[in-house]
Amino acid sequence: MRSAARINLAAIERNVTRLRGRLAPGTAFCAVVKADGYGHGAAPVARAALAAGAGWLAVVTAAEATELRLAGIDARLLVLGPLQDAELQDALDAGADVVAWDELTVNRLVAVGRPAAVHLKLDSGMGRLGQRDPERFERLCASVAETAHLRLTGLMTHFATADDPADPFLGEQLARFSAVVERVRARHPGLIVHAANSAATLREPASHFDMVRNGIALYGMDPFGRDPAEQGLEPALAWESWLASRKPCGPGDSVGYGRRFVAERPTTIGNVPVGYADGVRRQLGGRGAVLLDGRRVPMVGTVSMDSFGIDLGADAGDAVGAAVTLIGRAGDEQILAEELAEQLGTINYEVTCAIGRRVPRVYHRDGQPTGGPA
Ligand SMILES: *Cc1c(COP(=O)(O)O)cnc(C)c1O
Repeated sequence: MRSAARINLAAIERNVTRLRGRLAPGTAFCAVVKADGYGHGAAPVARAALAAGAGWLAVVTAAEATELRLAGIDARLLVLGPLQDAELQDALDAGADVVAWDELTVNRLVAVGRPAAVHLKLDSGMGRLGQRDPERFERLCASVAETAHLRLTGLMTHFATADDPADPFLGEQLARFSAVVERVRARHPGLIVHAANSAATLREPASHFDMVRNGIALYGMDPFGRDPAEQGLEPALAWESWLASRKPCGPGDSVGYGRRFVAERPTTIGNVPVGYADGVRRQLGGRGAVLLDGRRVPMVGTVSMDSFGIDLGADAGDAVGAAVTLIGRAGDEQILAEELAEQLGTINYEVTCAIGRRVPRVYHRDGQPTGGPA
């Protein structure tokens, strides 16, 4: 195994339990497991979240919904994304709830002629999917409610700036959404109202309504890009590889494509057998670091498709085969997805989503094998 992403399902359970602890009694928790569970593996994460009390799952595509059903997961499931006709059939086959936001998406559901639970989405400021016009939104609610085979099930919106605590726009979106919710609820009691992503859940209790939709935080990553420990969250993923080779390197010797590292003094260069095809971003070359037996070691040279170099230092005693940590804890040191995101000018979400298919996901509970299928 050239590298492995080790996923601690017990950490996911604890994160869900902690997040649910912030909710008023009766508020449902929807675990967002789109994009293969943000790179962690959708089905095992879904099972862990459900075990910790999540009542719902959310994905973006119909194929993601089908995958969860094939894995034997029968929880309530919401497909968030836009669906073309064939995908809509697949989503309904999977028994998933679906989202609509305009005449086109509602008429498609009317035309499909099959029972469907529908969540109508208001665009309160995200500028993505959703209905901008509150009056049209209310008319859509009425037409879904009046169609015999459709069930108006939920009202939803999505926040654009919840991850920036200094930005007041969350409050504006909340006010717009709340006003519409109040009017629709008066006419259609029993709807499930949901809006909050992880950041809003942590930041603004008034955004919780009947259900929160949390992704990033349940994986133990911080939606604000800080150390997740500040919110009591534990990173569930560790990415580990090993030292595949080591050799002395003298002044003038170079490492990797383009000779972007040239040694100035005698040192030892190691090779780690994981590269950009696995999700080690090329921009980390010469910038990032890894943990080798618990100490921080700089990445040097260009990241190749299948490996990269590290500078072990002059009198390095590290043996070939030693553990190399790309993300995770080793000894007293740790590399967070948030640190890599900072170095790459991106967000933690993109770091774990980028871990490639060539990297096996290995599941455990606090170091113990999970036993049974992942
Ligand atoms: C991805 C997504 C979420 C989850 O967001 P996090 O920031 O990961 O908690 C919630 N709602 C919608 C509509 C999404 O697309």
